[in-house]
Amino acid sequence: MSSKKVKLAWDDLIVSEKERRAMAEYLAFLSEGKTERESWKILESWAQKAGFIALDEVQGFKPGQKVSLAVRGKAGILAIAGHRPLDEGFRLVAAHIDAPRLDIKQHPLYEEEGLTFFKTHYYGGIKKYQWTALPLALHGVVILRDGHKVEIIIGEVDDDPIFTITDLLPHLAKEQNDKKMHEGITGEGLNLLLGHDPSNEAGEERAKSAILHLLKEKYGIEEDDFVSAELEVVPAGKARYSGLDRSFIAGYGQDDRVCSFAAWKAIEKIEQPEWTTIVLFADKEEIGSESNTGMKALYLENFIAELITLQNGTYDGLKVRRALAKAKALSADVAAGYDPNYAEVMDKRNSAYLGRGVVISKYTGSRGKSGASDANPEFIAEVRRIFDEAKVSWQTAELGKVDQGGGGTIAQYMAIYGMEVLDCGVGILSMHAPWEIASVADLIMMMRAYHAFLVYED
Ligand code: MN
Ligand code: MN
Repeated sequence: MSSKKVKLAWDDLIVSEKERRAMAEYLAFLSEGKTERESWKILESWAQKAGFIALDEVQGFKPGQKVSLAVRGKAGILAIAGHRPLDEGFRLVAAHIDAPRLDIKQHPLYEEEGLTFFKTHYYGGIKKYQWTALPLALHGVVILRDGHKVEIIIGEVDDDPIFTITDLLPHLAKEQNDKKMHEGITGEGLNLLLGHDPSNEAGEERAKSAILHLLKEKYGIEEDDFVSAELEVVPAGKARYSGLDRSFIAGYGQDDRVCSFAAWKAIEKIEQPEWTTIVLFADKEEIGSESNTGMKALYLENFIAELITLQNGTYDGLKVRRALAKAKALSADVAAGYDPNYAEVMDKRNSAYLGRGVVISKYTGSRGKSGASDANPEFIAEVRRIFDEAKVSWQTAELGKVDQGGGGTIAQYMAIYGMEVLDCGVGILSMHAPWEIASVADLIMMMRAYHAFLVYED
């Protein structure tokens, strides 16, 4: 450890009334936004209330104009026009709203010995054993052949049923216990238990028929409709405070909805920025940012092209390139919180500690920084200065010990435009587990940090 005395985010922390209310909003955001679609829907409704207008409805991009772009209902961007022309650059905080989960397969439904199940395919980096024997909910959409969208949430209100994936009783788990942890529960073993009451059915596979009848009656879905569905199995239940002193927040999907929320709270306060201010909520980060809703798609670039055109009255490709290249961005994602229970995988001198404020990471990546967007020290110095001036507690961290693994996020897909970009988030305990833990003090610091970054004038 450095000899410098550790300053905690908690020390001298004066939480404003607004920030206190924001904590309650955050809990609701986590509880009600468990998929990328649900999260964007909440963010979009908040943005609408704050005066953001959909891109295809705005007339111009004069200072103070608020614009929103929805990307297939699964990602989105919010922007406020600055006093400076957009081609001089902009400020960006980009987070992601997808989270690890189990997706329902295309042919999911089957019956075995009177029990019916959904086959699942996991999304993102999960430890499979964590998903058995806990209450699960089903969220998502089914698009019928005629294009009609059926929205489904089962397992969140008190009289809803929940779902589970079974685990083996310890009495018979001798062989399972001898296996390596990642082999104890297999991907094909993650089958969601659906039902076993066949009493109104006749013929073959009565239990499965009963489930199909229920799906038809309650949701208008037939077996073939799963082909055009995005149904996600997520932990059931509400996010809540954790710890005797209520200093933690426990909830599903805080990677990266904690940063998404802080990014929203930062832009919510802004009306007339010097620089055009943008926050972005990406999908598909957990599986490598692919697809037309992931950060590798060009929606940010296209959005900037639209804004330049709105601002100038005509499309100017060079101005688009300049705006992107001169931008300054925080890639808003969480860091691995230092966990004394797993100290052996952490480098104590370069870890993210809960309660010590926001975390900046010069680079992520694996092994020799593979896949990292290694931030320029000139830009890091600028961000340090902004955070210090705003009295934000901050620390710097790597994911863990160099040889222990690694991970990447979306910074490199912003850096390709030439903009300056630095990873900045908070430390999380039990990252990617069904319930993740964040620090209340760190979240407050992150809201302040993102706001300070978006509004600073240089
Ligand atoms: Mn993340
Ligand atoms: Mn993640």
